[in-house]
Amino acid sequence: MLLSPPVSVRRSQFPASPSASLASPAVTSPPNPAPKSVLLVEDNEDNRIIYATALRYAGYNVIEAVTGIEGVDRARTHKPDLILMDISIPDLDGWEATTILKGDAATKHIPIIAVTAHALPGDEERSLNAGCDGYLAKPISPAALVGEVDRRFGVLKASYKSRS
Ligand code: MN
Repeated sequence: MLLSPPVSVRRSQFPASPSASLASPAVTSPPNPAPKSVLLVEDNEDNRIIYATALRYAGYNVIEAVTGIEGVDRARTHKPDLILMDISIPDLDGWEATTILKGDAATKHIPIIAVTAHALPGDEERSLNAGCDGYLAKPISPAALVGEVDRRFGVLKASYKSRS
């Protein structure tokens, strides 16, 4: 029969707790939740590759977009768990793209973090007015970016390098 378990020596040694003897060893990691998806809207190819690589290494499912229109389109298609929105991007800027997504019932629940190299006075306020849920100023290291994303998802870990 397909479903009958094989005879187990370990099981017969621990008849009082058969389920415990069949359980995974205690050193096994807790089950991994489904990976979170992050839409990275970034027109600078170097930045996009560096940030996407760091996010993937940290276990995130990364969707990439280069322009504002692409960002809006991919947000609607993929419904990511979080959006990292560069502000200076072609077609629509990050604020315009954010305004569109926050005005759409299908996407307004998705947190959007503005990532900008402008660093002009008023940029943070403008980002929040557009509906952004957070604001990061570039330059930001890949580790710091991942740390911010982790924080948004409530991930606690000792250090960036502790990921495997
Ligand atoms: Mn840019």
